[in-house]
Amino acid sequence: MNVVANPDIHEILRRTFGFPGFRGQQEAVIGRVMRGQHSLALMPTGAGKSLCYQVPALARNGTAIVISPLIALMHDQIRSAGAAGIRAASMTSADTDNAATAHAFRNGELDLLYVAPERASTPGFQALLERAEIALFAIDEAHCVSEWGHDFRPDYRMLRPVLDRFAHVPRLALTATADPATRADILRQLGIPEDGMIIAGFDRPNIRYAITPRQSGPRQIADLLARLPGAGIVYAPSRKATEDIAAQIARTGREAGFYHAGLDPERRAAVQAQFVRSESMVMVATIAFGMGIDKPDVRFVIHAGLPKSIEAYYQETGRAGRDGDPAEAHLLWGVSDFSRARQWLGDVEPERLAGEQARLNSLAALVEAPDCRRAILLRHFGEHPPAQCGNCDNCENPPTMIDASELARKLLSAVYRTGQSFGIGHVEKVLTGQSDERITARGHDRLSVFGIVTPQDAPVLRPLARTLTARGMLAATEHGGLMLGPQARSVLKGEEAVTLAEPPPKARRSRKSRGE
Ligand code: ADP
Ligand code: ZN
Repeated sequence: MNVVANPDIHEILRRTFGFPGFRGQQEAVIGRVMRGQHSLALMPTGAGKSLCYQVPALARNGTAIVISPLIALMHDQIRSAGAAGIRAASMTSADTDNAATAHAFRNGELDLLYVAPERASTPGFQALLERAEIALFAIDEAHCVSEWGHDFRPDYRMLRPVLDRFAHVPRLALTATADPATRADILRQLGIPEDGMIIAGFDRPNIRYAITPRQSGPRQIADLLARLPGAGIVYAPSRKATEDIAAQIARTGREAGFYHAGLDPERRAAVQAQFVRSESMVMVATIAFGMGIDKPDVRFVIHAGLPKSIEAYYQETGRAGRDGDPAEAHLLWGVSDFSRARQWLGDVEPERLAGEQARLNSLAALVEAPDCRRAILLRHFGEHPPAQCGNCDNCENPPTMIDASELARKLLSAVYRTGQSFGIGHVEKVLTGQSDERITARGHDRLSVFGIVTPQDAPVLRPLARTLTARGMLAATEHGGLMLGPQARSVLKGEEAVTLAEPPPKARRSRKSRGE
């Protein structure tokens, strides 16, 4: 192998990319690749992962093979690489010029060749690899190799024999989302030594985090948007919700669009281009939106429902404020998000159940936490942050915590004694001793739990029900009623304490405004 003498990676960075210097851990990662070492780069979204393989692709002899799970993502990357004068191509089912690309590759005319994992492991592609010079293997979205990850793709498991066949070629696995179990698995699955892992700082100090319970109706998002200038994204849980919310926003006079996988490609491309250009547009989208979009001045990301995991939350909020200017991340969560997610756990294959449960519990802990949101996020990614950041809702307004264990036992008993089929409204009336026809007809006014909650404690019942549901102590019935959840026992037996943030005074005054 003839290695170019001392290729200057700084010169490439300046000349080809026009950047004055490397960011964060980029240089460390690139240094390892240049020395021919295998590595895993764990870098948050927006940290500049692509550069970590693009620069060595130019500095080393041969072509960099980039394994990537999404054709749309590949094509975006090829377009921007082309704009920088890098020779990049992909071989996928969506490309019509695969033969020409193979020819260019064999002739050493490509810097980057993108392929999907299922193609990379075919005998035909391996034969092609034998006939050209390979600079490195970049394995993008490397968490897909792990069953622990949130996005397991069996095709990634087929890569190892290919990599091992070219054992002297440095491999660089890249991901933005890997908890400790997933990281260890990536190293093992891809044959990367433990000291080859480079973790870049996950902190995004310019993003302010705020997490609040969702109220019913469109008011809450409208109120938020009224004080959030600039362009931003609202992530909605369903296609229909994206369209509904976008229409509501448009009615307030703000530029708004919606995006989901059900739109035809032209429409998607048009609305995406509109968003990238705009300085005030609100894009209401499913999580299909955002990957590979280069818009540094996204000023806010609002989640109208619970994200899939802390990793997903971090990645989605990470699309805000890439320019380093102040940006905001707001999560609105509802008790129904958790009850639905817990119901869905019932259909998960047994071997994935523990991981999915842990994911949901981490989310519950994040949304309910009385302390610094940033610290929770960063600890999740293996960092040791200071206890307070000063730039999240809880740091700014530390909630007062109350011990609600006793009240939780009363609430759970009332749910149980009324037959585990009524909603919180009915249970609340029973507990606070308000009779109505339904209550007397069922004899619920004669239960031992009737009227055992004082008027002072009454406003805590709904937030408490939310907390108990998030923690699996309550669950939703098919008809929207409440029943005991699998974790209820430990509270009823007094083995587990339930603390929660004291509801703000506003909530105490108008109980009716809480929709969930
Ligand atoms: P990731 O894949 O980690 O989410 P990208 O590779 O898409 O991030 O890079 C995010 C943005 O940062 C891009 O606009 C890229 O051009 C820019 N970028 C990357 N490295 C640098 C650098 N060293 N200096 C300035 N900008 C950079
Ligand atoms: Zn904080």
